[in-house]
Amino acid sequence: MQNGRLIVLTGPSGVGKGTLLSSFLQHHPELVLSVSVTTRSPRPGEVEGKSYFFVDLDKFQNMIESKELLEWAEYTGNFYGTPSIPVIENIKQGKSVILEIELKGARQIQKTFPNALRIFILPPSTAELEKRLRGRGQDLDEAIAKRLQRANEELEAAKEFDIQLVNDNLEDALQNLDRILFHGKK
Ligand code: ADP
Ligand code: 5GP
Repeated sequence: MQNGRLIVLTGPSGVGKGTLLSSFLQHHPELVLSVSVTTRSPRPGEVEGKSYFFVDLDKFQNMIESKELLEWAEYTGNFYGTPSIPVIENIKQGKSVILEIELKGARQIQKTFPNALRIFILPPSTAELEKRLRGRGQDLDEAIAKRLQRANEELEAAKEFDIQLVNDNLEDALQNLDRILFHGKK
């Protein structure tokens, strides 16, 4: 059987990665979304094992030491990582796996999986990004400020990616993602 593809989706917090993916995956149940581990506290409505595996710092460090993570990174004071086994197994079974991760993790994946398709999601403007982050209403002002600062660093790296996709109108962005993943279009 042919191996599945590894797809990496990166972009600043609040750009709409989660929104895009949840819509997209409803139409493409054959794609597997990797569930990350994080030391961040759950937001209201987040579900253990579905949104993330929520762990404490000790457990996260153990996972690093026992090489259970394909990649990991610190992001605005918390740690995030991709459990290896589900990704490797699904790819071996011919399924395509999507990682929704931040920039440092995406750079690690480029080294370990050079054939991964790496997509960077851009906001139509930084003002709109800030509006979305605030509009989501799930982060404190301090966390939003850190995320915006990090966003500026991340946006500068967009060119490193195979594909840059602007999430302005959601329906257009979904159609473009479909073209990129299933029709090989840039
Ligand atoms: P991320 O997963 O990248 O952090 P989210 O998916 O949580 O971002 O989206 C952040 C906010 O922006 C949410 O309130 C979401 O409803 C909104 N949003 C997402 N995509 C769009 C879009 N194309 N137009 C307007 N608002 C959007
Ligand atoms: P949030 O706290 O908003 O859920 O996520 C913060 C950032 O961490 C987002 O950019 C998200 O893509 C990223 N992220 C989520 N899971 C992982 C992961 O497993 N590894 C890395 N490197 N980043 C992740």
